[in-house]
Amino acid sequence: MKLDAKNLRYLTKDDFRTLVSVEMGMKNHELVPVNLICTIANLKYGGTKKSITTLHKFKLLFHDARKYDGYKLTYLGYDFLALKTLVQRGVCAYVGNQIGVGKESDIYIVADEDNKEMVLKLHRLGRTSFKTIKNNRDYLKHRKSASWLYLSRLAALKEFAYMKALHDNGFPVPTPIDYNRHTIVMSRVRGYPMTQIMELRHPTKVYNDLMNLLVKLANYGLIHGDFNEFNILISDEEEITLIDFPQMVSTSHINAEMYFDRDVNCIRTFFEKRFGFIGQKWPKLADCQNIHSLDVQIAASGFTRDLEKDFDKLAEEQIDLSDDENIDNDNDNDEEEENNNNNEEENNEEEEENNEEEEQEQEQEEGYHEIETSDE
Ligand code: ADP
Ligand code: MG
Repeated sequence: MKLDAKNLRYLTKDDFRTLVSVEMGMKNHELVPVNLICTIANLKYGGTKKSITTLHKFKLLFHDARKYDGYKLTYLGYDFLALKTLVQRGVCAYVGNQIGVGKESDIYIVADEDNKEMVLKLHRLGRTSFKTIKNNRDYLKHRKSASWLYLSRLAALKEFAYMKALHDNGFPVPTPIDYNRHTIVMSRVRGYPMTQIMELRHPTKVYNDLMNLLVKLANYGLIHGDFNEFNILISDEEEITLIDFPQMVSTSHINAEMYFDRDVNCIRTFFEKRFGFIGQKWPKLADCQNIHSLDVQIAASGFTRDLEKDFDKLAEEQIDLSDDENIDNDNDNDEEEENNNNNEEENNEEEEENNEEEEQEQEQEEGYHEIETSDE
């Protein structure tokens, strides 16, 4: 999904107030009734309805009138809320090119006022539809309706908390800068994902660095859980940086040994296939000593045990769903399909939107766009 931040500048203070009102309404409504949005936003002279029209036009809100007249946030709407906050805090001022798109995230280059480049990661963990989740899952309770917002937010918080704790303890990870909602901002690592590296000058050294990193993590009670060539960046000097932490597991996890061995084997297999390098030695979890704990530091960032439990259950639920029920993983498509079913008036609107979008895309050159917001 494209994050076209240019439209931020067209939004007024009232538009944002309305957008935040929809976000608030989504805490206990899957689809927020128009009346509720108006009550929360409390704008004068029908201002909320005007804002709703603008937000819908920019695809920040999704409209559904089948049961009652209501709106919900789209990913883009949620992105704008996070971006606006990060801009207000002075963390970033420009959005650049997209450098990564995963199943569960989109990655952009951003920059601050002084043109210092950073990386913005937008978590998309709820891309899997929650429609089919059975209603009796007690832990979802009222949150069921907002589960993609909630899950993406937890993923960002988890990643930020782990990155910070690891960074503070000298691990080779990006520097965490800030987070808001489902997004985190971190330093930009100079290097390439190992999957793009065809040759290493010092394969033994890199292999040993990676195995030592797995051992060091285990000594801190952690297993990365996705320790592969996509999540390891290598610089020109062949220094390693580890990224991507939402799936980290504890060495006390019931399947810890399996996760640990899987991480080790990912590297061994890759080194053999890509570099023809066969590692003679590799660590076992039993040889590691869990002598440090990051629990306190992780909780200090706000990622508490309770949130971790919530997150694990929800993430598990997602995996179950995508394995068993083969449902459409892309919310955006869902929305488009639903849009197609809407009435003609809506379709016309849609067409206009598309034309506008094309125009805007043509306008958009490569490079940075300043994030202007109208009420600064
Ligand atoms: P996902 O959860 O979608 O796998 P990742 O955090 O692994 O997301 O990031 C996806 C890609 O984005 C990486 O493979 C890497 O190319 C790039 N990337 C992510 N973070 C950084 C960073 N801090 N510096 C440079 N590149 C990054
Ligand atoms: Mg990754």
